[in-house]
Amino acid sequence: MFIVRLDKIEGEGDFPCPKCSNRISPEDEEEKTYTIVDIVMGEGEIPENMLIKCKSCSSMIRLEGFEALAETEESRADISTPLPDSKPGFRTNHTITFDGKQVGIIAIDYATQEDVTAFKKMRTLKEGEPFKGTITIENKENTSPVKTEDLQEIVKFIKRKIKGLRDNDIYLIEIKDGRKSIIGRASQLPSEPLE
Ligand SMILES: [Zn+2]
Repeated sequence: MFIVRLDKIEGEGDFPCPKCSNRISPEDEEEKTYTIVDIVMGEGEIPENMLIKCKSCSSMIRLEGFEALAETEESRADISTPLPDSKPGFRTNHTITFDGKQVGIIAIDYATQEDVTAFKKMRTLKEGEPFKGTITIENKENTSPVKTEDLQEIVKFIKRKIKGLRDNDIYLIEIKDGRKSIIGRASQLPSEPLE
């Protein structure tokens, strides 16, 4: 069996079969050049690895590195490095930008030894692991408000960036005209972008 790391190949993601050089392209969704044998899912929507079979020489090829590949995917959302008021290992604060404009902040809480003990029955936490994210979106007057699909993209980006945070761990708050309102958890947002 051959192993191909997708994050190590240049270009559009296509690569030659390691045995017969048949061009295998992820764009080939009809599976003309390969067949998918097995997919092992990792955290979130990203496969951990995928086993494919080259259609021209029948070689088995395991594809790895999907996670790193997804990380380089462009997003309209971004977060800053920890702000000066952050306490590493306890809580870090970051600004959130969307299309380059600051739209809010996120506070990320990391499990302390006490949290690990307190959550023991409900959840396996490791010390130092992020386990809560509070997103505060500030919709100012005279600026276009952050829409639901923008929030979905922000949440998706944050889950990719902060490993270990899940939809249920992410709380959304909106400040509009100086008033705070709770939107809810990210798991309550529609999961697919609205058309
Ligand atoms: Zn081949």
